[in-house]
Amino acid sequence: MKLDSPISNLKGVGPVVKTGLAKLGINTVQDLLLYWPRRWDDFSTISKLNTIKPGRVAVLCKVLAIDVRKSARQPRLTITEAILSDGTGTIKAVWFNQPFLMNYFNKDQQYLFAGNFEFKNNYLSLNGPTYEIVNEDNYKGKIYSIYSETSSVSSKTIQKLLSQVIHLSDELKDSLPDSVEAEYGLINFPRAVSQIHMPESMSDITASEKRIGFAELFELILTGLVLKEDIKTEISAKIKFEKEVVDEVLNKVDFDLTDAQRKVAWQIFQDMDKDTPMNRMLEGDVGSGKTLVALLSIAMCVKNGFQAALMVPTEILARQHIFSAKKIFESMGIKSELLISALKAKEKKEIVARVASGDIDIVIGTHALLSEGVEFKDLGLVIIDEQHRFGVNQRRELKTKSKFMPHVLTMTATPIPRSLALVVYGDLDVSIIDELPPGRVPVDTKVVKEIDRSTVYFFVDQLISQGQQAFIVCPLIEASDNMGMKSVQAEFDRLQKTVFAHRRIAMLHGRMKPEEKSDIMSDFRNKKYDILLATTVIEVGVDVPNATALIVENSDRFGLAALHQLRGRVGRSKLKSYCYLFSDSDKPNTVKRLQAMEKTTDGFRLAQIDLEMRGPGEIYGTSQHGILDMRFADIFDAKLLSSVKQAATSFINSGNMLNYTLIVDKINKLKKLTSLD
Ligand code: ADP
Ligand code: MG
Repeated sequence: MKLDSPISNLKGVGPVVKTGLAKLGINTVQDLLLYWPRRWDDFSTISKLNTIKPGRVAVLCKVLAIDVRKSARQPRLTITEAILSDGTGTIKAVWFNQPFLMNYFNKDQQYLFAGNFEFKNNYLSLNGPTYEIVNEDNYKGKIYSIYSETSSVSSKTIQKLLSQVIHLSDELKDSLPDSVEAEYGLINFPRAVSQIHMPESMSDITASEKRIGFAELFELILTGLVLKEDIKTEISAKIKFEKEVVDEVLNKVDFDLTDAQRKVAWQIFQDMDKDTPMNRMLEGDVGSGKTLVALLSIAMCVKNGFQAALMVPTEILARQHIFSAKKIFESMGIKSELLISALKAKEKKEIVARVASGDIDIVIGTHALLSEGVEFKDLGLVIIDEQHRFGVNQRRELKTKSKFMPHVLTMTATPIPRSLALVVYGDLDVSIIDELPPGRVPVDTKVVKEIDRSTVYFFVDQLISQGQQAFIVCPLIEASDNMGMKSVQAEFDRLQKTVFAHRRIAMLHGRMKPEEKSDIMSDFRNKKYDILLATTVIEVGVDVPNATALIVENSDRFGLAALHQLRGRVGRSKLKSYCYLFSDSDKPNTVKRLQAMEKTTDGFRLAQIDLEMRGPGEIYGTSQHGILDMRFADIFDAKLLSSVKQAATSFINSGNMLNYTLIVDKINKLKKLTSLD
């Protein structure tokens, strides 16, 4: 038997079990050894029946009597009941649908029974305990590893199979270097594996978890650091800082930079002033003024003679950005153009040609368009708005005729706690805008129920009377019988005929033609409408400072990040703004999420709550890639993170990484995942 032997070589693995194991991802002996327990049951202390307390218990007993019967209420259910005794007292054990137990136990044999001793069906009993022959009278008890099962493979089966091959753990290797193991006081991998399956004490498990978790993080953090080094080998356009450029841009807006904007802009200017590419992520809460920082960086790039591209997720946002860009850049002699799919073929062709010839300095467009088929003459800087990550290969796909690799800045309003950023985005430098422009009044947020509806409408109507505007967001476009969810079209008809008959209402949703959408957005911005009834197309980036009320229908349908983004559409001026979240849900998680919205407007705080409630994989879109599939590492453990980072950094600096083929393989795999290419 070897590590790569097929699992069917083991005793007890017939075709059915083999298929079941394959479903769990277990095809070889090694797969089995690396199939971690889901949890452990600590039955290392044996209870005596005269002092037993409810809870998870283990008892050493003989079976005094046993009987099986059919359930009176559910005829298909069989109930097996046994009276167990350990000499100090007796208890009842109960199993469902295991009638064969009737003839299983030997009256003179002592067994270890382990399970939950609980009050059920009106009496205290040991419910569905595991059973195992135990011979010695001074038996110490043990810890059981419990595995995820399938219908044909039980946890017990996995335990039995493991006992046939556990000695082969000695041949296992993983990618953590021995030197790191020694320095951080970790046990070796074979021992960690064998202990995690067959622990003798809870501290065995702790030591194993620590060792395996360390390796999980080490690989991920090392990959980030390697990616970072990779980028440093490329050459980029050197963009010199010129103070006059900043002054010229700021002259065009009627406010000063906040200290936070000034700080991050300076970090960006310093990065661009090098001949290795910038790879920076700019985090700033909704409304913190990331656009202006982007425009400043773009101006610096163009004034140095290079082109810049701004990529955004939606056409609405592209149009809004070109509007702000033209306002600032036209009089500076900088040419900016929009490149979106709504353009006519001829217009598109013309713009593409002017980008290639270098006539256009700045292109603003959607992610997809810009990475397809546009060739720049001399691209110096790419800014990606509202996205977390931009892969290395995506960067290469942005074609430029020059020999330079562009600087890249990604901007996001979903803040990532620093510790996590290190793990997930280790290849990026992070800048944070941690303050809002002065004079912003926090948005007053209330979770409201159906009975509050007329009050909410009345209040919003009063705001409109004062010349302000409102957004109403519905989850659907068209009415459907989808469990009472509101749609933009049905609400439009209803509101237009009833409460808001005297107001000007417009609709906006993803199924409208692009020109139609952009006309409605600009008409709304120009106050031709009082109310914009929309789907979440307005979620990201939309900036209409005069809008002060936001109503979200069926708000329980949205996650925290989406709600926070939606709320960011109001509160963008000195006017007090209001957010009403309709929900009649009483599900605890929903209530908790909506209450968090009421309690805080701080995006960092909300991101933390979201992270705790949903876990990182789901939030950062990495769950399908398995990047954050860490079984033992606790990514909230700051001390652990900093040790691992230290270990990874000094390992890279030691310069002999290439000798560790296992690590190199693993890193290459992770690189593919983390750069999302
Ligand atoms: P976000 O970070 O969400 O992209 P924006 O860049 O859209 O935010 O900025 C939000 C609003 O704040 C815009 O109307 C913008 O003009 C305004 N703004 C940006 N910077 C400042 C500043 N320093 N002082 C006052 N208002 C600002
Ligand atoms: Mg923005």
